[in-house]
Amino acid sequence: MDIPDYCYQKALDILYEGVYVVDRQRKVLYWNKAAEELTGFAAGDVVGKVCAGSALEHVDEAGRSLCGESCPLRTVMSDRQEREGRLYLHHRDGHRVPVLARATPVKDAAGNVRGAIEVFSAVSGGSLALDRLHELREMALLDPLTGLGNRRYTEQKLGERLEEMRRYGWPFGVLFVDIDRFKNVNDTHGHDVGDRVLKMVATTLLRSLRPFDFLGRWGGEEFLALLANVDAEQLESVAERSRLLVAHSSVPHKGGDIRVTISIGATPARALDTPQGLVRRADRLLYRSKSSGRNLVTVE
Ligand code: GH3
Ligand code: MG
Ligand code: MG
Repeated sequence: MDIPDYCYQKALDILYEGVYVVDRQRKVLYWNKAAEELTGFAAGDVVGKVCAGSALEHVDEAGRSLCGESCPLRTVMSDRQEREGRLYLHHRDGHRVPVLARATPVKDAAGNVRGAIEVFSAVSGGSLALDRLHELREMALLDPLTGLGNRRYTEQKLGERLEEMRRYGWPFGVLFVDIDRFKNVNDTHGHDVGDRVLKMVATTLLRSLRPFDFLGRWGGEEFLALLANVDAEQLESVAERSRLLVAHSSVPHKGGDIRVTISIGATPARALDTPQGLVRRADRLLYRSKSSGRNLVTVE
């Protein structure tokens, strides 16, 4: 289906990214709403002007002016390569606005460069602040021992998957995994060896899942896996494969390799499930695997 012409402008104007288009001479042909908001310059201030003029005096992170020879739009038009980078735009009020910008050449049907488009989005603060934020987020959501998402993160993911199932009808299933008699490993070999076993089980489980599945550490020696797009039968076969893979893995140790087994409770998610209700059901199924002798899968 072709998009009617009158839709393009609307589409460009509801973006949160600033978009502008220049011709070969770098005269501004178009300037969208977000560009107005991010820079304070209205379309009327810039359209029809050559960008090197005023509003578009970009500088890079070192404060070097990107006008003239090093103008990114000029460069993409001459070497026809798309470019992306962090720049500082000039706001009408005088301050600098940090943005992530992408510039791309525009060619006509014959392959001649007719102009360029730049798309830019606001980034908050400097890169240091961003890195720090990233670090804090990771610290708060990742389990340091296994590198998996922690309980909080797993709860978030569970909420998201339930929401997606209700909205788009994407089915998923849950595996509640618990290492059998893990206390014995700690008691016999010490906590450090216990930690190595935990890491080994996490890695083995992760490898037995598919790329779009999720595995989180729920608590001590418990893991929760969210399996996308599975029915009860597929859920059971993934659970069985995970159980067998762990049973056939080991951690090398001087007194002889250490092996553990896992028990699993598996259940497909239902439209009316709450995250807590779903986990509780999986946990009860896990309990059945434990009381039936361990190293077992129970599927609802
Ligand atoms: P079951 O088969 O019934 O699950 O027996 P279990 O021994 O695995 O269960 P229990 O809940 O009695 O013991 C769990 C043990 O897991 C106790 C705790 O010391 C150990 N554990 C929890 N977190 C960690 C950890 O981060 N590192 C180590 N090494 N051990 C942990
Ligand atoms: Mg447990
Ligand atoms: Mg256990």
